Amino acid sequence: MFRPLPSVPDHPALEEEILKWWDDRGVFNALRERNRGGPVWSFIDGPVTANKTLGVHTAWGRTLKDVFQRYMALRGFDQRYQNGFDCQGLWIEVGVERELGLNSKREIEEYGLAEFARKCREKVAWSAEELIRGSKRLGQWMDWGNDYYTFSDTNIEYIWRFLKIVHDRGWLYRGHRSTEWCPRCGTSISAHELVGSYEERTDPSLFVRFPLLDRPGQSLAVWTTTPWTLPANVAAAVHPDKEYGLQEDGEWVAVERYPDAIFLERRRGSELVGWRYEGPFDHLPAAEGIEHRVIAWDEVSMEEGTGLVHIAPGCGAEDFELSRVYDLPVITPVDEGGRFYNRFGWLHGLSTSESAEQIAADLAERGRLIAADEYVHRYPFCWRCHTPLIFRIADDWFIAVNEVRPRLLEANATVEWTPAYFGKRMDDWLRNMGDWNISRRRYFGLPLPIFPCECGHITVIGSRAELEELATAGLEELSELHRPWIDAVEIRCPACGTEGVQRIPEIGDVWLDAGIVPFSTLGWENPKWIEGGYGNGAAKGLTGADLPDHAFWETWFPASWVSEMREQIRLWFYSQLFMSVCLVDKAPFRSVLGYEKMLDEHGRQMHGSWGNLIAAEEAFARMGADVMRWQYCDQPPDRDLHFGYGPAHEIKRKLLTLWNSVGFLVRYGNIEGFRPRLDDLGAGPAGIELRPLDRWLVARTDKLVAEVTAALEEQLTYRVIAAFESFVDDLSNWYIRRSRRRFYSYDDAAFRTLWFAVVTGLRVISPVMPFLADHLWRNLVPDVCDGAPESIFLAGWPEAREPDERLLAEIAEVRRIVELGREARSTAGVKLRQPLRRVYVRGAQLARDHADEIAEELRVDEVGFDQGPVAQVRLLPNLRVLGPRLGPKVREIKAALERGEAEELGDGRVRVADVELEAEELIRGERVEISGWGIANDLALSVALDTEIDPELELRGRVYELIHTVNTMRKDAGLELTDRIVLTLPDGDDLLRHEGWIKAETLATRIEPGDALAIAKA
Ligand SMILES: [Zn+2]
Ligand SMILES: [Zn+2]
Repeated sequence: MFRPLPSVPDHPALEEEILKWWDDRGVFNALRERNRGGPVWSFIDGPVTANKTLGVHTAWGRTLKDVFQRYMALRGFDQRYQNGFDCQGLWIEVGVERELGLNSKREIEEYGLAEFARKCREKVAWSAEELIRGSKRLGQWMDWGNDYYTFSDTNIEYIWRFLKIVHDRGWLYRGHRSTEWCPRCGTSISAHELVGSYEERTDPSLFVRFPLLDRPGQSLAVWTTTPWTLPANVAAAVHPDKEYGLQEDGEWVAVERYPDAIFLERRRGSELVGWRYEGPFDHLPAAEGIEHRVIAWDEVSMEEGTGLVHIAPGCGAEDFELSRVYDLPVITPVDEGGRFYNRFGWLHGLSTSESAEQIAADLAERGRLIAADEYVHRYPFCWRCHTPLIFRIADDWFIAVNEVRPRLLEANATVEWTPAYFGKRMDDWLRNMGDWNISRRRYFGLPLPIFPCECGHITVIGSRAELEELATAGLEELSELHRPWIDAVEIRCPACGTEGVQRIPEIGDVWLDAGIVPFSTLGWENPKWIEGGYGNGAAKGLTGADLPDHAFWETWFPASWVSEMREQIRLWFYSQLFMSVCLVDKAPFRSVLGYEKMLDEHGRQMHGSWGNLIAAEEAFARMGADVMRWQYCDQPPDRDLHFGYGPAHEIKRKLLTLWNSVGFLVRYGNIEGFRPRLDDLGAGPAGIELRPLDRWLVARTDKLVAEVTAALEEQLTYRVIAAFESFVDDLSNWYIRRSRRRFYSYDDAAFRTLWFAVVTGLRVISPVMPFLADHLWRNLVPDVCDGAPESIFLAGWPEAREPDERLLAEIAEVRRIVELGREARSTAGVKLRQPLRRVYVRGAQLARDHADEIAEELRVDEVGFDQGPVAQVRLLPNLRVLGPRLGPKVREIKAALERGEAEELGDGRVRVADVELEAEELIRGERVEISGWGIANDLALSVALDTEIDPELELRGRVYELIHTVNTMRKDAGLELTDRIVLTLPDGDDLLRHEGWIKAETLATRIEPGDALAIAKA
């Protein structure tokens, strides 16, 4: 016996139950055991930042990872299942700062770096637990507890080693650069961190006068949207090849920008070069000794502003480059926190944004302001704390990329990207990226192992052992490789022997932490396997992960597959590729599945403050993990996902069709005592005569397996969903619908075929919906078949056999004819229950052997092929063409067309009133109603339904109505499907002419005359 199913599934409840059962039975471990030693499929998990609970965004990626891991496991592949956490760097710091109420780097230092580091670790430990809990609830199968943590000493040492190699090749250098800078975080921001950080913002727009020293009464007019950079001005740039003009008010501007202006004098930009002017803030100490002059610059834009650009090399990347070309002084106006230095007089201590208004007012007061307005533009914000970024000159550590760039491009060419354009994006990035800025002026992160000695020698330490060898002090307290403990370690310079050499204080870019993972977690060049060897440093006690040996790395590197969202192209995918090419000259992954952004169901960004953010916990409770997973998988990866409860509701509705089909099998299987055979799962029911419809369902199931397998091989989960939905529709709305009666009286072939199809369908959808699939599997298979695997995940992947395409096409045509027939009925306004005399079909290629089924489905007595009326449209003469050709004869043609006297000659040509007309000489109007017929057609098929209802048909129509009414009454009365009844019919009813039929369809033992329609249990 199957367990009876409730009328609707309670997704969250059955999921909790399955989770517990998986756990109790050790199903995941059994699966891993089963596949151990099998072919290797290496997935490497991109680390999730451990500073939060699981969100629906993260759950998307985790679902895709789980779907493909489950699929490959079902196919027998051996896998590692290691989950990873990103544990250090600014993400973690910013969260902890907020919790502690710290607002600046000074406050962190006052709080104490050791205590701060402890808090960061606590945050990671908390978040890791939360993320694991949420991921388990999502159904993700991972080797939980053996996760990698990027702040482990092992991970850090591997990065040290990488940096040492990079240094040995001469690629590591310290650069004095203008860089995007977050004034709140007090650190530079690397180019790849700017991805997606631009937002619209309104800034002041100032037009400012720079008086020319040698041309009294004349000024340069410049435009800026960053007033705080004006005190650092040293030059004004013009385009050397553009024309500039002097306006009546004494201001020089680009002629092109002021087409309506009157100019007193015109000069080429190159002629302006060298003109000296009075700077906007020459009275401040910082501007002392600066000579301001006009320079030439080909990049000056004629798209906005005045065509003259104010240059402040301390506040912009391009300005800084120009300072190198023209040997301009560099004034850095603001400190790490974005506040003016004291050499800027009254501006001292103001932030860049606070100063804007006061600078404008000051300029106005001194007669330097031409105009002030507002300007809306795209501006970069800090991706962690959302502070607007500024440009600042800083000393940072870089890895030079030019030498390795061609090899990166070559390596990327070996990677298979889905969607393909993501690979192109990576190529673009690799071609255009600048040197990698790897240093950050922060606290809890990868300590850069760089020890510069006064003698000029730079020591880059490659491991803890090397550090210990060179250390002269500070090892005692070094329990983990983090600040502040590492700061106390001093070394002896191997070049000159000087002792007490200190590390630079900077920490590393977090993408170094994540990029090294394909080496640090797989034991690259590690001589001996160390059990639990990965869980050291800050990761001690958080993970039991081993540090494998080099042979293991050889087996599992490169990854067969990785999957993350698009922004990771320039982040994790990039840093991994970079480090891997540097270390072993090879791409670290063979194939990548990327995907776009998640928005809410209305296409808006999800934001906590907009109230449209969905917590994963809430989604688990309200829609269930299977429904979430379905929603994620239904998404083509090249489009944004619109996630929400609306789509979830729609999915539940679709799943109900599947549920009802299984329910049907369970209900009648139990009534009729059906015993399935496990062997049927191989190739469908064998040793029994199947009817054509059964053979069709077997073929249809084969096709499903083939389609889903192909879709998963191509990493396109949305095609899995599409294939499954269409299969369930065929199963429910064709097979079960057409075979219903065979289940009412035991038909072994029907039961076995349906069971095979349902169970196989569950098997192929199980990676997407593991809970529902295993829940139903347990009921339909191991509970009733001896020796069956207890979980669907221990049953392997069904073999994709070649489906019988001819049979499938035949039934597809039949279904299409039936659909058109129903359409014709509804256009003619005839109820579905009303029997009709005949239907005529034209254009059918394959459906001829199925006349009986078509007749039954359309409730007609007779089906005819290639006869009957054809759908016609009203034809009108195209007067503009025909008038000139035929003159007055057109009237005759028009009259003939109105009478319908037209003969189709093919290709759209028609003969009317003895004239042959070309297609373009006629206008095809609306469909012509043919009295007594309902007609529907598509490009290939035309279906005509005889809609005439004679008294005999009318009576049969009423019998169908009666049967329907009685069966509804049976249901309302709570009768079992097998209960017999006594039916009372009102006196003298002519329906009794069909007594036998009515009895059979309503399970009535007898029919009694009476006053009103009634039923009673017999
Ligand atoms: Zn910031
Ligand atoms: Zn030295």
